[in-house]
Amino acid sequence: MKNKKSEFEFCKVCNLNHNQGLHHKYFPNHRKSLSTFLTRFRNKLSDVCFFLNNPSPRSPELASRNRFWCFFCDKDIDELDSSFACANAICHLASVEHVKNLKHFFWKYGGVVDQLNAFTVSDDDLAKVLQKIYLYPVLYFILIV
Ligand SMILES: [Zn+2]
Ligand SMILES: [Zn+2]
Repeated sequence: MKNKKSEFEFCKVCNLNHNQGLHHKYFPNHRKSLSTFLTRFRNKLSDVCFFLNNPSPRSPELASRNRFWCFFCDKDIDELDSSFACANAICHLASVEHVKNLKHFFWKYGGVVDQLNAFTVSDDDLAKVLQKIYLYPVLYFILIV
């Protein structure tokens, strides 16, 4: 007999299949993996957020490094069409979609809700960086609207 509780599901934080259901997120091993994972992602974000305070034109040499994998959204964000370093990543981190996926991730995998801000870019910060970057408002509309 198939029991829903014993169904296996994949935990992308631990990178394993388990049949512990939602309780999985309270297991010590999972919590350990989660904290390692969040720390690693935060470091990656600080690379991106560096450009929040220091908007820089995107240089072709950096193009390959200018990729950002958003683990929460399972989405690869490249900067091929942006003129400024990490512009697409910054916009992604401020997007409604990202915040929604992040909340879902925290609900499913555990995590402290007041950490949410550490993994997003606020509308204020986004507006500030866009003001600095977009001397030409056309790009603003391309990215935001
Ligand atoms: Zn896990
Ligand atoms: Zn995302």
